[in-house]
Amino acid sequence: MKFVLTNFRYYLSFSQIQLIFKRLKNILDVSAKETKSHFGLLQYMTNRYFKQLLLAEIGEEGQKRLNGSSAVIAGCGGLGTVIANNLVRSGVGRVIIVDRDFIELDNLHRQILFDEDDIRKGLPKAVAAAEKLRRIDSDITIEPVVADLTAGNIEQIIKGADIVLDGTDNFETRFLINEACVKLGIPWIYAGVVATYGMVFSIIPGETPCLQCFIRELPGPDESPTCDTVGVLGTAVNIIASVEVTEGLKILMGRQDSLIRKLIYIDAWQGTWSAYEIKKDDKRCPVCDERQFAFLEKGK
Ligand SMILES: [Zn+2]
Repeated sequence: MKFVLTNFRYYLSFSQIQLIFKRLKNILDVSAKETKSHFGLLQYMTNRYFKQLLLAEIGEEGQKRLNGSSAVIAGCGGLGTVIANNLVRSGVGRVIIVDRDFIELDNLHRQILFDEDDIRKGLPKAVAAAEKLRRIDSDITIEPVVADLTAGNIEQIIKGADIVLDGTDNFETRFLINEACVKLGIPWIYAGVVATYGMVFSIIPGETPCLQCFIRELPGPDESPTCDTVGVLGTAVNIIASVEVTEGLKILMGRQDSLIRKLIYIDAWQGTWSAYEIKKDDKRCPVCDERQFAFLEKGK
C-alpha cells in the first residue's frame, strides 16, 4: 500500500488520489462485473478523458462512441473555432473543417484557435485550425477543406459524417446544408449569433422539423442584422457554440433522449435563456415533406 501511494504521489494530483480511494471503495462494493484490476484503474485515472468518463452523462460507453464518430464543421469563424476546439478536446474521432477564408486581425477577438502568427503566415482558417487542433490531440483525424460549401461539393464532403455543425454566417449556406442533410439523413445543428444574442436548434431528419419548416423563405440580405453591421460579443459566440456542441455530443453518443428539442435563444448580455417549441404546421415543407432540393439543384 505504501509503495502504491508513493508512486501515486508522483504521478497524480491530490484530487485524483482522493478519487482513486473512492473508486477503490466502489470496486470493493460493486459486482464483479464492474471490477477493474489495479493496473486498469491507474490507466483509467490517467486517461485524457478521465473527467468525462466520470460523468454519468458520458461514461465509458459515451466516450467510446465519441471516439468513433465524425463531424463536419461548416465554417471556421467565431462559432466554428469554438465548435472545433470542443469537439477535438471531447475526443470526437474525425473532424472535418470547411472554410475558404484567411485569418484577419479583427477575427482574433472571438476566433479562439487563431493568433497573430497565423496571420503573419497567411494561413487559411481551416489549415491554421487543423494545425492547432493536432497539437491539442494528435490522435484525432482532422481534415481541413479550404473551400466554400456549395451545391457541387457539399454532398461529397458530408457523406458518411455523423453530424454537421453550423458555423456559417449566412442563410444561403444554411438552406443548402439543410437540404443536403435531409437528403442524406444526417443530423445537423443550426446556430447563429449576432451582437449579444444567438440561437441553436437541432435538426434530425425524419424526427424534428427541418430549417425550412420554420424559416420558409430565404431572408433577404438586409432583413437581418449581421456581425459586420452590428458587431458581435465574443462571449456570446462562445456560449452559443458551446450549447451547439453540447447538443451535438448528445447526438453523437446516441443520447437523443436528452436533446432539448426546442429553439434555444440566449442573450449573453441580458443573461436570458429561453426555449421555444418548434412545431411543423399544416403546410407541407418543400424539403422534408416533398424532398425538393432547390438549393442543391440550383448550383448543379
Ligand atoms: Zn422541413
